[in-house]
Amino acid sequence: MRVAASLEEIVERGLCTGCGACASLLGPDVLRMDLSPEGFMRPRGQRPLDKAEQQTVLEVCAGHTQKGGAPVKAAPHRIFGAMLHLAKGHATDRDIRFKSATGGVLTALAVYLVESGEVDGILQVSVSGDNPLLNEARFNTTREQIVASSGSRYGPSAPLKDIVALLDSGRRFAFIGKPCDIATLRNLSRVDPRVELQIPYMLAMVCGGNPSIAATYNIVRRFGEDHRDVEELRYRGHGWPGPTYVRTRQGREHRQTYDETWFSNLTYELMFRCKICADGVGEHADVVAGDCWAMEGGKPSHREAGDGWNMHIARTERGRQLIEDAVVAGYLHEEPFSVTELEAMHDDHGTKKRSVLWRLAGLALTAQPFPDHGALRVVQAGLAASWRERWTAFRGTLARSLKRRNRESPITSGTYAPDTTTR
Ligand SMILES: Cc1cc2nc3c(=O)[nH]c(=O)nc-3n(C[C@H](O)[C@H](O)[C@H](O)COP(=O)(O)OP(=O)(O)OC[C@H]3O[C@@H](n4cnc5c(N)ncnc54)[C@H](O)[C@@H]3O)c2cc1C
Repeated sequence: MRVAASLEEIVERGLCTGCGACASLLGPDVLRMDLSPEGFMRPRGQRPLDKAEQQTVLEVCAGHTQKGGAPVKAAPHRIFGAMLHLAKGHATDRDIRFKSATGGVLTALAVYLVESGEVDGILQVSVSGDNPLLNEARFNTTREQIVASSGSRYGPSAPLKDIVALLDSGRRFAFIGKPCDIATLRNLSRVDPRVELQIPYMLAMVCGGNPSIAATYNIVRRFGEDHRDVEELRYRGHGWPGPTYVRTRQGREHRQTYDETWFSNLTYELMFRCKICADGVGEHADVVAGDCWAMEGGKPSHREAGDGWNMHIARTERGRQLIEDAVVAGYLHEEPFSVTELEAMHDDHGTKKRSVLWRLAGLALTAQPFPDHGALRVVQAGLAASWRERWTAFRGTLARSLKRRNRESPITSGTYAPDTTTR
């Protein structure tokens, strides 16, 4: 097994998660975040990093190491990790529940944290103010701002690109992001004690992988629109899961269902890092929330179901207490949800986790680096895979690596150029 030896290797071998922490640590004279030619958020720099800069990045980057760090007291479930508390629920505020991606649990917790004075603000991802197809990190301090940042954005973002400046500001805040963003924050907490003091809550969504920005541009093209005309784009929300929605400056509106968007030959690439991710379920977070789909014929259904329901897990004592306080304060409604229901509903994450060991074997055989997955039970989960699952994962990654399809452009290359044709 070999971890990457430099930031350049992390990016070029497809191990970067795009969080932006490296750019924040080294500053804009060395690295800036931008879309890569492949349509992922990546550090861009014009000179090789020196040895000390490399060391600073490698200590923190989840493309290098994913060791965790949250103090966990429960024995971990093989796939879903430590669960101090598991329930289904939703925001009690109807507006939050309607607008959010699922039932609004993450937004409700964030609003509770700000309104109770627990934190000064929330660092989270929202739609970009410059381009409604892109995302940007925001530091939100009011209910209105937090609710306006709710919903899932299935595209690149760099939520940690200003993390050092925020820590320097002395403010106390909660963070909401993808599991890999939180893995990076936990790595940072090992070298910067301010993280533990100033970021008391880290909240994650369950994540099956983040697509390239090409997915977003292709959604717009499939509606027959030019991306330059788009005024608003929502991937979901405003219902559960809610339609993918596009409105143009000329007032044209388009909608399609979640399944029509994601399960109808939409062309895009997931980040390679997501294909070897062993933490889709946010094991390093204090609280993680996902969908609580209705089950039809033993499988989760994405049919429109009106008011959304989350399933959520507290990983840490701090997370468990936060949920309890938010319920008592009337921000969250909860009902029982069992591990058996979780296993059936989110079996896609079981399949994914069981495959990681075999994907890594494909990389190892072709001398490719991969992250140190720390205590994420990659071997334990992998040994529970069927022979078919093992072979499919191993063969697929081996072929991908031999065809160099895990590779990305160097950090000195240019930016993403969207296809401007409509169809
Ligand atoms: C890329 C991606 C993949 C996902 N895959 C799965 C899955 O496999 N299974 C599953 O059950 N759920 C998945 N989800 C999560 C799901 O869509 C909901 O986010 C989750 O159920 C929480 O619902 P909520 O109503 O509490 O969220 P909300 O209250 O709407 O809050 C969502 C929060 O997520 C933040 N956010 C949105 N997009 C991003 C982003 N790209 N990067 C960082 N932060 C972001 C927002 O700032 C907001 O704070 C995924 C979400 C994303 C963005």
